[in-house]
Amino acid sequence: EPTPDADLLAGLNPQQLEAVTHRGQALLIVAGAGSGKTSVLTRRIALLLRRREAWPSQILAITFTNKAAGEMRERVGQLVGDASRGMWISTFHSACVRILRNEAQQFGFTKAFTIYDSGDSRALIKRLVKEFQADSYGFTPAAVQSKISKHKNELLDAEGFARQANLADPAERVFSEVFQAYQRELQKANAFDFDDLIGQTVFLFRAFPHIADVYRRRFRHILVDEYQDTNHAQYALIHELTRPVAGNAEPYSAGGMMIFEPESAPELDGASLTVVGDSDQSIYAFRGADIRNISEFERDFPGAKVVLLEQNYRSSQNILTAANAVISNNFDRKEKKLWSDRGDGDKIIGFTGYSQHDEAQFVADEIEAIHRAGTPYSEMAVFYRTNSQSRALEEIFIRSAVPYKIMGGTKFYERAEIKDALAYLVAVANPADSMALRRILNKPRRGIGDVTETAIARFADDQGITFREALSRPAELGVGPKLQAAIAQLDETLTAASVLMLPPSGELAPPTAVAEGLTLLLTQSGYFESLRASRDPQDEARLENLDELVAVAREFARNNPEGTVIDFLTEVALVSDADDLDDSSGSVSLMTMHTAKGLEYDAVFVTGVEEDLIPHRISAGEPGGPQEERRLFYVGITRARKRLHLSLAMTRAQFGEISAAMPSRFLQEIPAHIIDWRQSPGDVNSRGGTQSRALNGRRPGGGYGGSGGGFGGSGSDRFAPRELPKSSLKPLSTSMDRFPNRVPAKVRDNGDLELAAGDRIRHDDFGEGRVDAVTGEGAKRIAHVRFDTAGLKKLLIKIAPIQKL
Ligand code: ATP
Ligand code: MG
Repeated sequence: EPTPDADLLAGLNPQQLEAVTHRGQALLIVAGAGSGKTSVLTRRIALLLRRREAWPSQILAITFTNKAAGEMRERVGQLVGDASRGMWISTFHSACVRILRNEAQQFGFTKAFTIYDSGDSRALIKRLVKEFQADSYGFTPAAVQSKISKHKNELLDAEGFARQANLADPAERVFSEVFQAYQRELQKANAFDFDDLIGQTVFLFRAFPHIADVYRRRFRHILVDEYQDTNHAQYALIHELTRPVAGNAEPYSAGGMMIFEPESAPELDGASLTVVGDSDQSIYAFRGADIRNISEFERDFPGAKVVLLEQNYRSSQNILTAANAVISNNFDRKEKKLWSDRGDGDKIIGFTGYSQHDEAQFVADEIEAIHRAGTPYSEMAVFYRTNSQSRALEEIFIRSAVPYKIMGGTKFYERAEIKDALAYLVAVANPADSMALRRILNKPRRGIGDVTETAIARFADDQGITFREALSRPAELGVGPKLQAAIAQLDETLTAASVLMLPPSGELAPPTAVAEGLTLLLTQSGYFESLRASRDPQDEARLENLDELVAVAREFARNNPEGTVIDFLTEVALVSDADDLDDSSGSVSLMTMHTAKGLEYDAVFVTGVEEDLIPHRISAGEPGGPQEERRLFYVGITRARKRLHLSLAMTRAQFGEISAAMPSRFLQEIPAHIIDWRQSPGDVNSRGGTQSRALNGRRPGGGYGGSGGGFGGSGSDRFAPRELPKSSLKPLSTSMDRFPNRVPAKVRDNGDLELAAGDRIRHDDFGEGRVDAVTGEGAKRIAHVRFDTAGLKKLLIKIAPIQKL
């Protein structure tokens, strides 16, 4: 007879079943890619709820991205319905923000603290590096920033560093001073940087055990996905949360939390902890991730149960064989073999293009072919190592009308105009944040220069008031009447917005307050007007971006009817690489391999499989670097369910230089017989030159597997060393520009095709539609077209495959 939870256990293999149903203090699930780790976590949560072993509010599940959190929440919702509400399913950062918003007043911050993203921190550090002349000791702001971040990930704060630093060493002393000043400035601005969100929560728990106890009593089941990528601070946080709780805790009320009377606070064991991970997929060492968190789990949590999963449910065997073969070249790992019962499946397809455009064209053509054969675009993904590689792909995709979206939302929020607009919001929400105020002081131009800024800061210091308060007393600043008027106007604008967005406590702001407040700020400050009056075509794009931000605020209000401006700023600050701002679901996803973690697609294209890209040249000098790159490649190829494509180019233009590329060593690690190498399109001989000879010499039959690889050696000596900024190693942001300022080299050219709102057109792929609007100028004119079946699309008029009807 089926039990009420039979559906939750259906189809699980014995190991998965054990992982879902095991009860105990600590459970570690280690397994290779696609073996159901994330699925097991989800089912475990659903089972706890269904069997009423836990209230939703007693569950804390940590995922690596907001997107993954959203998916897990939705999946649990499907399994148990409303019973899933009230759970915390979030990233480490989001969970810590929630805790800090409740408790920050305990240690000198307010609920409205600002979250500094890495650009904000960088700006502050830059100022301090200058102030302390740290540059004369060879410190760049970037170096200081990454050093600070590293220490914070190890839970070493500024004071701790100062205590153990060798202050006789002038460089170390100056770094220590900058670190401390940085921390002081953050505190003064009522702000946390990204690393602080985790680190300060740990400090909070350690310094205020009675607060920690509230959370320990609340979260009885803690589950962490992608545990291999936790750093020390995150590890410590988990440790703090899973400590046993002494009875008779002092009564204490923490924001929104339960209050326990002494007699009603029994002793409690530590929460039950479930972590899942795969040490072969550890790819964030550069951010302080520590594989030892997995390998030492059994030591840290004595009596922990360990479950191994080996069956892969995602990919066909050829893909797994390739993955196993590649990863087995890493030493110092536990051997595990993934297997699948889905059959061999298709061979892996390899392709070498002459250039990255050639490669991109292959990808676009394959996507179209696979799409015609019935796979939706949304089931396909293209991966690359560095964000800059997306350019060539985008160019060709636009011209080939392949609908795509770029995963990664941060770039949008890094735009100057968006940062300005957000700084206006921050100035209202967190008046202590003088950095935000200084940013908008002269945006738009009000004639407020450095001298005035300094005068305001000095007045604030003298009076012992904040920068914001100083703005309300323009007459006392000792500046001329024109400036006084300008400052008064800014002050009024900010005040008006705060009346709208921050009603007296106890009253709720109207749900649309953020969007309205934002519009008010940008209108009354003259920001919109200055862009409209401008003749710079870029300013039109800026206006569109700001409209988009207002739309984001409206959308936020729809999803969070009680959300405040602080909630909105939190959400925006925590947008991560894997979150796509774009909800065009019928699109191919483009992303870095880092971002691809945890995801799966029917067809996957791993592009740029070349030496110096994967493994990245930067990794060569770092201990364990090439091994980490191999894991990254492993992550990339194990995303594919049915079809895997590995492509590369013989030459690649990067940083304004064209250089010869070499096939990645990882290609040679894949058994030759499971790769089907395709010819470069077009007639190879007609292209002439040494490149095609090299290509012909190498290509016939075998590809690289076993044949020694390389372009017959022809490329290596011409290989020009290039400097690569360190930041490009990281999976930072990607472009939101769907229609960037570049026109592909060899494209369809519609010339000056006349188009206006109301015209009907036909698109080669999307069919017929009506033009809603035309924006932009010249070669950058964009038609916003509402297609009869394909929905709303933006098309670059000059090159889109369209005809006017
Ligand atoms: P990764 O290491 O990439 O994060 P994972 O171990 O978390 O992978 P999941 O994403 O949970 O793996 O599962 C991979 C795929 O296998 C998913 O599509 C999932 O639905 C499917 N799957 C997992 N377990 C089973 C099962 N017992 N039967 C059928 N399909 C399964
Ligand atoms: Mg997973």
